[in-house]
Amino acid sequence: MEKHYLTDKYHPLPEGYKPADLVRAPVPFLAPVNDMKRYISVVVYDPIRKLFHACAKDGLSLMGISAFRAFERQKEIYENSVRKRGREYTSKRIAYPGTSEHQTGLAIDVSCAAVDYDLVEEFEYTDEGMWLKKHAHEFGFVFSFTRENEEYTGYINEPWHIRYQCEEARFYDGD
Ligand SMILES: [Zn+2]
Repeated sequence: MEKHYLTDKYHPLPEGYKPADLVRAPVPFLAPVNDMKRYISVVVYDPIRKLFHACAKDGLSLMGISAFRAFERQKEIYENSVRKRGREYTSKRIAYPGTSEHQTGLAIDVSCAAVDYDLVEEFEYTDEGMWLKKHAHEFGFVFSFTRENEEYTGYINEPWHIRYQCEEARFYDGD
């Protein structure tokens, strides 16, 4: 089995790390069919499929926005944001390259039509957002960035960002 990692502001990933087991997530996405945004670690394949399926069965419609993101892409996004909005704004919203959960292949951002598929806090109050909050854990997902852990994570509340709790995933410690 492939190694999987966790990351946060205090535990960067190995430089340029990319999971070797990326597969296209079996859920609807806005991104073009071959976009790496659609990819996710294979351990998340069934859990995310089941989560989307259960949500659809309840008459709601989630949309995948962004799952895997490579180090280089994170660097571009981070640097663009610093240029446009400054370092303080950026540091609360965009992970420094090497510390994004999207680089682990275990995280996915989702949204819905009611907020125009944006990644905004209002998603939390949509039917899909409330469904997700209630049911995500049943499929093994957690919310990485909440009001409760804001102080520790250093990021604002992100009700659209969920991470699969992969049992063997751990912080990188140099091996
Ligand atoms: Zn995210």
